[in-house]
Amino acid sequence: MSHARLALIEQLATIATEREARVEVLVKVDHLPIHAFHFGTSDLATPLLLVVGGVHGLERVGTDVAIAYLATLITRLAWDELLRDALTRCRIIVVPLLNPVGMMRGWRANGNGIDLMRNAPAPEQPATFFVGGQRWSPKLPWFMGLEGAAMEPEARALVSLVEKVAFGSPCAIAIDLHSGFGVIDRVWFPYARSLDPPPDLARILRLGTLIDTTLPHHGYRFEQTARVYTIRGDLWDHLYDRRRAMGEGALLPLTLEMGSWAWVRKNPWQGLSTLGRFNPVKPHRLARTQRRHIPLLELLFHAAASHRTWL
Ligand SMILES: [Zn+2]
Repeated sequence: MSHARLALIEQLATIATEREARVEVLVKVDHLPIHAFHFGTSDLATPLLLVVGGVHGLERVGTDVAIAYLATLITRLAWDELLRDALTRCRIIVVPLLNPVGMMRGWRANGNGIDLMRNAPAPEQPATFFVGGQRWSPKLPWFMGLEGAAMEPEARALVSLVEKVAFGSPCAIAIDLHSGFGVIDRVWFPYARSLDPPPDLARILRLGTLIDTTLPHHGYRFEQTARVYTIRGDLWDHLYDRRRAMGEGALLPLTLEMGSWAWVRKNPWQGLSTLGRFNPVKPHRLARTQRRHIPLLELLFHAAASHRTWL
């Protein structure tokens, strides 16, 4: 099933390359490639939208949404002059499947049993018990890796990509596509590790207002991750702090947490399977989910491109 997703990503890579996009394999893990699709100028000092999917292998719908967005972009490269024009000044990078081994096996962690979203260097500090990250065993969920161990190859690949492509940008907005919590779709911003407000809170809230005023009836709840639970070792907290320390410019990392409980509520039997608790199972519901988030991604691209007017 997820072989099919990787095959689709490779087909898209071929077409994207023919249309002047650049596709890079960040690293291979157990022979499975992690692709990054680069659209737009090679000038790193330009606005950027970064879309990431498949960090948690179970949450296949995140990769499905990233693939739908890639398909839109690649198709539009053939005819949309406005997009092509924007891409001479801005960039979009899509990493549709960061954890191919986890997706292949149908589980959350990577092949070593490590939860990639708990794998950044993190001081020992209180977090939500268990869910917020644990160092006891890779046989249990939410394993962060052993204290002091190097980051996993997938996490390292994402961190080095972001450092390279986003740290020189005047405004980089990242959105990481997840599913599994609650009945509504949430857009989360840092910090995940504590309820301390991020230093960019005012800017982040202005971005929230842009979403509210530009996408009527959008249905997203815009909130700080730590309001729901606190996480140690969150990769985006780590990258956000590193980018902040450099001064000028901004990296605003968001997480879209698609509310999968709503799919289970409408189709209760799917709650009996692990994958069913994290993904829409009925084809019409998957299709709806895939198209539903494109306007948000579009808006974030426009927001990054037009950062001077609101940031
Ligand atoms: Zn997730």
